[in-house]
Amino acid sequence: MKSFKYLYGPVPSRRLGRSLGIDLVPHKVCTYDCIYCQIGKTTEKTIIRKEYVPVKDLLEEVENFLKEENASIDHLSLAGSGEPTLHSKIRSIIEGLKKITSIPIAVITNGFLLWDLEVREDLLQADIVLPSLDAVSQEVFVKINRPRSGFPIEKVIEGLVAFREIYKGQIWLEILFCKGVNDSKEELMRMKETVNRIRPDFIHLNTVIRPPSEGWVNPLDQKEIDHVRVFFGEKASIISEFDRHPLLAPERDIREEILKILKRRPLSLYDLSRGMGIPQNEVNPYIEPLIREGKIKTRIFGELIYYEISEN
Ligand code: SF4
Repeated sequence: MKSFKYLYGPVPSRRLGRSLGIDLVPHKVCTYDCIYCQIGKTTEKTIIRKEYVPVKDLLEEVENFLKEENASIDHLSLAGSGEPTLHSKIRSIIEGLKKITSIPIAVITNGFLLWDLEVREDLLQADIVLPSLDAVSQEVFVKINRPRSGFPIEKVIEGLVAFREIYKGQIWLEILFCKGVNDSKEELMRMKETVNRIRPDFIHLNTVIRPPSEGWVNPLDQKEIDHVRVFFGEKASIISEFDRHPLLAPERDIREEILKILKRRPLSLYDLSRGMGIPQNEVNPYIEPLIREGKIKTRIFGELIYYEISEN
């Protein structure tokens, strides 16, 4: 199988079926540095939009992939190794993809830049926009998402509300809960009021299910997240899956593929096997040698063993 520079997967996602990830920014360029981020700490925190990857090359890759790979794909997901709306030509990318294929396009975004009218208009042709909103009070926003200093959460919320006014597609709003950070009764009450203003088609509730950027971050337990789901009502469902950043490469050099994937985030054997589309017993023989060579190491989170790249 050919290697692609900007494409990942297709990866199975509960929300998007088989999703072909399209990486619009290099790792890890983002407007936030979320404490729960599974792809590591933000190395370039910015609000500057630019053509991080060349539109022409990216569209050519997608076209070649669809011609050459016999893979069934339910969605093209603009996401990847950071925040996709930072790409200044995301509108041209969406328009270009629409010319190539009728596969629905999903944009997985942290929603921050939606305060900017140009960004809101850039996303109008997408079929689904999946923004996240983890906080509604300034204190919690700063703690969980760690945006640029002094940026008001109210402006982010107003952006989401304004986007709903002009966008005709589906909005699936994701809220990720970290225990003791954004799950207080007061924050939940205010969150519900805010969600009612944003009017998403669905509310996806999530918690920390893979090793987070900060080791002190903890998930809600099942009872707690069930309680939150009931609180948000019938539009809400629990997704328990971190699919904002599909990060799997379609190479068939298993050893290199494992290293490449783990460079982006720690994963369990189950995750590796599921994402690579090969059984665990075929992935497993590569794991021990990589640990012995010091290329990867184990990390325990919850009750699972994850593998991650060794820093030495
Ligand atoms: S979770 Fe997404 S929005 Fe948050 S820091 Fe990671 S890449 Fe950025």
